[in-house]
Amino acid sequence: MARPKFAYFDGQIVPIEQATVSVMTHALNYGTAAFGGIRAYWNGDHKQLYIFRPVDHFARLKQSASLLFLPIPQSAKDLRDVLVELLRRENEHSDMYIRPLVYASEEGIGVRLHDVSAALTIWAMPFDRYVSKEEGLALGTVSWRRVDDASIPARGKVAGAYANSALAKSEAVMNGFDEALVLNQDGHVSEASAANFFMLRRGKVITPPVNANILEGITRHTVIHLLRHKLGMEVIERDVDRTEVYLAEEAFLTGTGVQVAAVTSLDRRKIGSGEMGPLVKSLREVFFKVVRGYDPEYHHWTQPVYLTEQVGVK
Ligand code: PMP
Repeated sequence: MARPKFAYFDGQIVPIEQATVSVMTHALNYGTAAFGGIRAYWNGDHKQLYIFRPVDHFARLKQSASLLFLPIPQSAKDLRDVLVELLRRENEHSDMYIRPLVYASEEGIGVRLHDVSAALTIWAMPFDRYVSKEEGLALGTVSWRRVDDASIPARGKVAGAYANSALAKSEAVMNGFDEALVLNQDGHVSEASAANFFMLRRGKVITPPVNANILEGITRHTVIHLLRHKLGMEVIERDVDRTEVYLAEEAFLTGTGVQVAAVTSLDRRKIGSGEMGPLVKSLREVFFKVVRGYDPEYHHWTQPVYLTEQVGVK
């Protein structure tokens, strides 16, 4: 796997080898951290690297951190500027995955969130697909339930809560599926292990609401907008039953990692034809055009990294 060359650490960009923490770090022991996941897309025609919705991602990071009382002094725009600088230093001409992390940096014993020091780091590395089968994932409903807002805030990207996501993903994969469908405490569909869920039923797109213990995905928001405004679809946010998914015409996942990935079966039942359907196909086309910076209507979502005079220099 590719590795980052640098990291933003302790307020400056340093070689990745210098960005290390002690085994005594609070976050490492207690999961007291919040993180983000951002993609940047290389556009070979423009010779430009576009970061997708960085300010929105950093705004969510700040919200996730605030749920844990972890302060981030910089604004979302300041962090976007730091990221642009970091990516210029990395100087890659390929798609990138970016990982910002805010963590309780205290060294010592004591489960709490008050009076704990916090630190922020960002690193980035070349990245292609997160799931190999974006054109057709086999999902399995898992026995684990999604973390509840009354236990660990599901709308924050809280590091500790990812033990729940990892249990779900591994159960699905170890049972022969590609990905998990995770139900919430009510037994309704919440999301996949690290992606939001959508289905097409009777010609309407349906996705679980923000109070179904989902992460409020930025790709979810993007896709709802594109479905409505580019593809003229009705999108409804409401509770979804597992057996409705069995009867859906199409289904898909959205997330920074999975991008827009077709779901072609759930619990060994084919969804629709059992192959990627026409809606997911059109949505993927629109989505990749937007994120790669080809659609001028959405340039406010794509932050160029390289100065025009730097473009092509490597
Ligand atoms: N749910 C979970 C649990 C996730 O980890 C992610 C990935 N960040 C998503 C949904 C999708 O969110 P986004 O579109 O903002 O990447």
